[in-house]
Amino acid sequence: MPAASLPRSEHYSFEVLEDGIGFGRARAEGTALSNTGVVDLGGSTLIFDTSLTQRSAREIRDASMVLTGRPPSLSVNSHWHLDHMLGNQVFADRPIYASRRTGKILRERRAELDRELARESLEAEIRQLEIDQRAKGLVGKPSPFDGALRLNRALLDETGDRRLTLPTDGFDRELRLPGDRDARLLSFGAGHTESDTVLFLGKARVIFAGDLVVAGTHPNVLSGDPEHWLTVLDEIEALRPERIATGHGPLRSTEGLDTMRDYLSTVVELSRAPGEPEIPARFREFTEPDQFARNLAHLRARSSATHGSRGP
Ligand SMILES: [Zn+2]
Repeated sequence: MPAASLPRSEHYSFEVLEDGIGFGRARAEGTALSNTGVVDLGGSTLIFDTSLTQRSAREIRDASMVLTGRPPSLSVNSHWHLDHMLGNQVFADRPIYASRRTGKILRERRAELDRELARESLEAEIRQLEIDQRAKGLVGKPSPFDGALRLNRALLDETGDRRLTLPTDGFDRELRLPGDRDARLLSFGAGHTESDTVLFLGKARVIFAGDLVVAGTHPNVLSGDPEHWLTVLDEIEALRPERIATGHGPLRSTEGLDTMRDYLSTVVELSRAPGEPEIPARFREFTEPDQFARNLAHLRARSSATHGSRGP
């Protein structure tokens, strides 16, 4: 497809993996925060992950027209994290799919998440981040607070309703989708979160992996199960995908799975050893470097909760 027919977008850079299969990579300066997919299934168009804000979600809808000649027919949330589903309200006139477990988590956390998204909560959070940033002398410099500040400011900027729009339809392990792409939604249990969904396009051998596979950034292990995540990566590999549309970062081939395995097993192993290890050299160029310490702290807290507290 010629470059002229790629969607113009502030929040994404789009590439066409194959006719009717678009991969939108979130731009660092935009408010999408996570990648997206626009897939012509043959007779209908699927959106994989609806982004953080309505502004970015409306661009996905526009991209659907440019890439597939029709508005979205259905959308999918890979998992419950807000940067993958808060844009749902832009697609609320059509079915929104997620695994049943993800739907349940969102229903249970809805009130709490809606409170966090209220104007007063966002303003308070921004004030606190700015205080911390000043206290560390980091105003105007790259700092660990940048990501959270950007996210909260993007949400505060949202002109419409910020409340959650929940998935309308669920599935357990596998859902075959109509059309001629041999498209399936699959969920292999806990990994990046308690439940994650991937979209596998059998004919094109493309997988939209959500945050089960990220590239060039520290994976976040706080909501899931890194040990089981490793078995989920094996399930993904068994599908024999050739291209992996990541949840954050660029497109990957299967070497993206090896990097994830290396990262997850390393962080689990380091969490079992004493001391404050540095980020291993091969992960040092990753964005969100603070996530490394958060991952370690989380895994240590989890293991002391399992084995009983053994120290001060
Ligand atoms: Zn996530």
